[in-house]
Amino acid sequence: MRIKGSVSMDTQRQPPGQEPPDPQLVQAWKHRVAAAPGPAVALLGQLADADAAVLADHFYGVLFQDPRAARFLDPTQVQGRLVLSLQRWLRQLAHSGPDDVEALQRLHEHIGHVHARIGIPADLIGRGVRAIKERLHPAIRARAGHDALALETCLHLDGLLDLALEAMTRAYARSREAAGQLDGSFRLFSLIQNVGTERERQRALLLAWENALLYALTSEQPGPPEPLLLSRSDFGLWFLHKGLASFGETSETAQVSQLSERIDEALREELPATTSAVERRALLDRIRGWPGETRTLVGGLFEGIGALEAGRAALTRLPNRRFLPTILRREIALHASTGRQFAVLMLDLDHFKAINDTHGHDAGDRALQHVAAILVEGTRGSDSLSRYGGEEFVIVLGSVGQTEAVASAHALCRAIAGSPVSLPGQVRLPVTASIGVAVQDGHPDYERVLARADAAMYQAKRGGRDRVVVADDDLPPPPGQRALQG
Ligand code: GH3
Ligand code: MG
Ligand code: MG
Repeated sequence: MRIKGSVSMDTQRQPPGQEPPDPQLVQAWKHRVAAAPGPAVALLGQLADADAAVLADHFYGVLFQDPRAARFLDPTQVQGRLVLSLQRWLRQLAHSGPDDVEALQRLHEHIGHVHARIGIPADLIGRGVRAIKERLHPAIRARAGHDALALETCLHLDGLLDLALEAMTRAYARSREAAGQLDGSFRLFSLIQNVGTERERQRALLLAWENALLYALTSEQPGPPEPLLLSRSDFGLWFLHKGLASFGETSETAQVSQLSERIDEALREELPATTSAVERRALLDRIRGWPGETRTLVGGLFEGIGALEAGRAALTRLPNRRFLPTILRREIALHASTGRQFAVLMLDLDHFKAINDTHGHDAGDRALQHVAAILVEGTRGSDSLSRYGGEEFVIVLGSVGQTEAVASAHALCRAIAGSPVSLPGQVRLPVTASIGVAVQDGHPDYERVLARADAAMYQAKRGGRDRVVVADDDLPPPPGQRALQG
């Protein structure tokens, strides 16, 4: 099933074929296709052609009965294209011959990887496939005319669907396993890029928020509660986007989240109702202990972790692309649970080869470090920076909409262009960057938001470089496939 715009049983996209096929599975598949008697193959083909539309509707109908499906399936996408993809898939499977098996096997592995990236529960796919069998068996029986043909046709159908499911599950399981390992190492890594500094920085941010709160609650005109909320503060954003992922789900992180909710709730509900300094003072006295408690808990969480250097690009000291799948999966999950959007900026330095050629590789390295420092400086602690490739960076901005994301991209673009690299001999080397911006559009596959940012960056290059382009679904993809394959 093709899901919220991405694949599933989409037969149009080329599978990447990222791991060697399982020879046993391919052999069994070939055997199944070759051994099926001609009349059974013909009957199954006729039924698939005639009933594909009904079967596809049934498949999605069954899936939608499960509340989990709504997280992955968008009814308009289903009606618009997923139903057609599924019909095509059914026909393709029913009409396949021995020569099609390798391609089919690769296609199903690809579908399995996409399902794993999206995180769709494997049992839902199994259930949909079972629903197809249950619908087709009586239809086969009614059409076959005699029991022997009905039996052969049912065996052929079941064999094909089982093989398809097996290929998908194989890739699904591998992807999930790899993702699980990455998630674990990311947890250790992510903050912990620099435990000591991060601890101090977050402590300072919490204190700054506390001071602002104290000031507001003791002043004559405290203003609206929103700017005072802990969840909206720099610390709150960092905790949501980085802290939770890094510390993991422990009773301490749960307590920090609860305290933050309690504080925000009190501010939202009680602050607007206060009419005097005395009332605000009473509110302050009531919630006063909670920020301190939060600080103690966060301090304890930091103590539980040690530094971990692995996974960092040596030159720029930024994380490499290895953790991007984990970062993006987390942001997609946050979007699903909180509705907060995130954005991906794909940044590529302009004419970098010429910099190396003219000024030497060391100057190129110096320029990369210089730009990395500008990016660190120009982003918030809750954003994630990665060195995506040689002179390419990916920035994931948490809790932003399109306007803020585009403004950040412009600011970074200007900061880079406005700050030439200092080279030995008083040389000031100008550097510019092209940036593609894509805001999460509700699609559950992180590859898509990356691909959209990449296409936009490519357009920025074509448009003359040193600029920002916002992703638009009509942008052509850049030449050559770039993907993360998490
Ligand atoms: P464009 O504006 O189209 O992006 O042009 P470009 O020259 O930047 O693009 P291209 O991708 O062709 O070249 C990137 C160059 O970046 C090629 C490679 O030599 C250089 N590069 C990649 N990694 C490093 C690095 O770590 N240090 C240095 N000095 N150069 C690097
Ligand atoms: Mg490049
Ligand atoms: Mg470049």
